[in-house]
Amino acid sequence: MERISALLQTFRDIAANPGKQLYKYKGEGKKAIGVFPYYAPEELVYAADMVPFGVWGRLGTINKAKEYFASFYCTIAQMNLEMGLTGALDGLSGVIVTTMCDTLRPLSQNFRLAVPQIPFLFLAHPQNRRPEYGIKFTMAQYGKIKKQLEEIAGSPITDEKLQNAIKVYNKSRAARRKFVKLAGQHPDVISAVDRGIVLKSGYYLLKCQYTKLLDELNGELEKLPVPQWKGIKVLTSGIIVDNDALLKIFDENKIAIVADDVAHESRSFDVDAPEDETDPMRALALHFAAQDNDPLLYDPEIVKRPAHVVKKAKDAGANGAVVFAMTFCDPEELEYPSLKKAFEEAGIPHIILGYDQQMADFGQARTSLQAFAESL
Ligand code: SF4
Repeated sequence: MERISALLQTFRDIAANPGKQLYKYKGEGKKAIGVFPYYAPEELVYAADMVPFGVWGRLGTINKAKEYFASFYCTIAQMNLEMGLTGALDGLSGVIVTTMCDTLRPLSQNFRLAVPQIPFLFLAHPQNRRPEYGIKFTMAQYGKIKKQLEEIAGSPITDEKLQNAIKVYNKSRAARRKFVKLAGQHPDVISAVDRGIVLKSGYYLLKCQYTKLLDELNGELEKLPVPQWKGIKVLTSGIIVDNDALLKIFDENKIAIVADDVAHESRSFDVDAPEDETDPMRALALHFAAQDNDPLLYDPEIVKRPAHVVKKAKDAGANGAVVFAMTFCDPEELEYPSLKKAFEEAGIPHIILGYDQQMADFGQARTSLQAFAESL
């Protein structure tokens, strides 16, 4: 248990102070590239010998970004711009900004204009990601990003480096999937707060370093007997749940998170990139094509994703689900009715809680979660 405590403390320190981690890398002579949500090919940054640094907003208050956005934009987009406007991202040598929803598109253009000091790498994914023309489009976009990254790094991204990056990332994705499972089996050791912290810190470390720490934590957890959990078990769903005060309510009410359908968590590492593809750029495009079960991705079979989430909940033995509805997130809101129907048909009780990164008062969430836990 001593080693587990020490590892958890390491993850806590990293997640609590991403800026410190960024400047540590810079002190080692490394450049870092900000990676906005969603599905940007981080492997390219890693293969360029730079540090991919996740930029998923932050907790706090939005001030300056309000001049660029109407109030009905999600906080994750507004916060990313706020961070750019307040200089919080100035240590980055560039940012990759994707355009996967109607909020990210205006964010990309506002960021480009309002934060000119940070090199801007615009990434458009195709709607139809699976047909050959979609794969070609993704490859062309990734090719453009690759060229820009090479210019920033001052050296070429070779096929060999990229193939290695794909392996490093697949290993990291596997470790995170394993951790999610083990955290669900050991909620007595991995609190909901720590679960979130361990996953979040992966955005601020080179994946080879992160995976080494996580493999060690997973190894320690595997040695422990699986306890009989006296509380309830849930699946969480949403874009991001990065507030320790909110997750603490889970711990206080003995609500274990045994699986998730969260974009910032499992949706980002559910799928691996092929390692047997000879062209690594095509492997990255195939990786994006293989992504699935996400409201942000075009799905001709609209009914498929809710069934996937229900299966995830059942496989993990969840008694219920907690849906975090990011305020003003259209893609998630539009798919909620089908998710709700699927939960109801499967007999999985759920609640929906509003969430945004400016929230500081969780009184209502506390009452709802307490009542939900008691009802199960
Ligand atoms: S998907 Fe939702 S939370 Fe994410 S940027 Fe778009 S509107 Fe915001």
